[in-house]
Parts: sequence; C-alpha cells; structure tokens
Amino acid sequence: MTEFLNLKTKYPDLIPIRMDFECGPGWEKVLDKYFGEVAAALPSETRLRLERVYEKYGSLWVDAMPEGPVANLVHLALDKAEVLADSRSYRYCETCGEPGGLRDKHWLYVACEAHANGAPLSRQTNAGSNSTVLPTNMMGPGLGRCHTEGETSD
Ligand SMILES: [Zn+2]
Repeated sequence: MTEFLNLKTKYPDLIPIRMDFECGPGWEKVLDKYFGEVAAALPSETRLRLERVYEKYGSLWVDAMPEGPVANLVHLALDKAEVLADSRSYRYCETCGEPGGLRDKHWLYVACEAHANGAPLSRQTNAGSNSTVLPTNMMGPGLGRCHTEGETSD
C-alpha cells in the first residue's frame, strides 16, 4: 500500500526492500520513530524479522521480532517500541501526517479534519487531549435551512 522509500533508505538493515506497508503514508514519522527505537535497542549482530506493518482498528500495528536469541531486555524494548508506535499513530492523520484523531464512520480510522470525510472525532480519544483538533459538533451548516426555504410547518 505504501513503499516508504525514505525509511527503507534510512533503515536498510531493518526493513526488507520488498516490504509492503499496509498503512497510509501519513504515518512515516511514527514509523521513523519506531525504527529509530528498534535500531537503538537491537544489538548490532542481531537482525530484525519484520513480518508485517499494518493498520488495524484505526491504528498502526507492527509484527516484528529479533532474528535469533536476544536478552529479555531487548524483547521488552521491541515490545515497547511497538506499543508506542500504536499509541502515537492515533495522533497523526494516516493519509497526510497532520495532527488528527480517531474517527468512527462504519469503521475506525485516524484522520485530520481535511481527510475525515465528515466523520467526527471518536469520543474515547478526546479525554485529556490538548491537540488543536476539536470535535465538530452541532455548529455545522444546515441549521439555518428552515428559514430560507419557506418550509413552514403550518
Ligand atoms: Zn490528513
């Protein structure tokens, strides 16, 4: 779905050249952070077995494990990088990378206002959010319609 050539160039040891990322290009920053953390955690002689990078239930999922035996600490660090990538992906539009939030419109996806397709922010992600994206509520156009069309009810 997305090639992420910049990331493949930046992390040639971590990402197989034929890897097909099953998520949108907006998550490049999130993946860049993820691979940076993995590169820092992985011992230099150990390779990463990157199996799948995909979008599921709106957020970013990574299936990866160290190739060969590593210390428990390394496993923990990779797990942590995965969890952080998942949680960061909720804040960036999957399409363009601008600040966004989880939308719920028949299915879940993360989008900025421009790519939201009219879907409001899903309420669960708003708690404690200090982002610039505010939920659009009843202030939209259309409320004045009954005054302009002469649709009197009696
Ligand atoms: Zn967007």
